[in-house]
Amino acid sequence: MRLESPTTEKGAVDACGAELASRLAAIGGRVTPLPRTSRGDHLLAEFGCGASQVLLLGHFDTVWPVGQLGRMPLAREDGRLHGPGIFDMKAGIAIGMLAVRALLETGAPLARRIVMLWTTDEEVGSETSRGAIEDEARRSDAVLVLEPSLPGGAVKTSRKGCGSFEVIVKGVSAHAGIEPQKGASALHELAHQILRINALQDLSRGVSVNVVQASGGLRSNVIPDEARAIVDVRAPTADAAAAVDAAFRSLQPMDARTTVTAKGGFDRPPLERSPAVVRLYNEACRVARELGFDLREGATGGGSDGNFTAALGVPTLDGLGAVGDGAHALHEHIEVASLADRAALVAGLVARL
Ligand SMILES: [Zn+2]
Repeated sequence: MRLESPTTEKGAVDACGAELASRLAAIGGRVTPLPRTSRGDHLLAEFGCGASQVLLLGHFDTVWPVGQLGRMPLAREDGRLHGPGIFDMKAGIAIGMLAVRALLETGAPLARRIVMLWTTDEEVGSETSRGAIEDEARRSDAVLVLEPSLPGGAVKTSRKGCGSFEVIVKGVSAHAGIEPQKGASALHELAHQILRINALQDLSRGVSVNVVQASGGLRSNVIPDEARAIVDVRAPTADAAAAVDAAFRSLQPMDARTTVTAKGGFDRPPLERSPAVVRLYNEACRVARELGFDLREGATGGGSDGNFTAALGVPTLDGLGAVGDGAHALHEHIEVASLADRAALVAGLVARL
């Protein structure tokens, strides 16, 4: 089965989802598609029964276009399986399914329902899935996120919150040669603003603020009346994110003839290393030790849907998926030998909760 699933191609994503749904049903899942018009349908699958639930969370959309399999074919080499989307994060879904299948096959009664939510728009910010993710998380005692692990298999106990702002400057246009004094250049003003924005960055506190795009001006002899910049922002705590947000909202023009406005904000709140996160990590460490390996932890600047669930205060452990490397890169691969250990880890964790 070769089913590519770039976020932007609903037809391809739904074809992949149909196959996934039939495999979930085959291992005993009660599958409910969550239909979407602009993105692929998300899939919810429930196993067992009980008043409370544990949520396994991930996504089956990828960043790779249809046809990428022709350029980076599925290939097994030196214990690694290469392919687009395998590490981020189709192997994570396989790990979750293997874990649940193993738990069901032991015949031991489950203390609570297991709910899987596999979404289709994580790679573009989860606009059409965030509501469903938060609803399921609120009903869950814990959320296990099957996103890729950190190098060597470490799980992610903190993720920065991330977002972007668009800064729009309006000025006054004028002929640059005949009457420049009548103009107020939006580009000059934006240049000042960019320096102020850059000063918000505080890497020692883990706050990154980077202007990643800027544009303005129409012709070589016209003072531009509009300019824009896009700014990528990351912050490790909700407080730091709020401070960055407030700074953007209060940008003031240097030149009073111009106006400066900021749109946007943090799309994903930070996943903070809270006591709830640490408790879940410690539980996972105990399971890993029983299985004969050490489970390390780490932080990342990238966001995932685990950011949403952790911000609700629901214990969340992220990066429980595959061991490998090269997410969003041509060398994307997983370590095949690690799959069974990761599935055992997830199964043990679900059983222990
Ligand atoms: Zn991912």
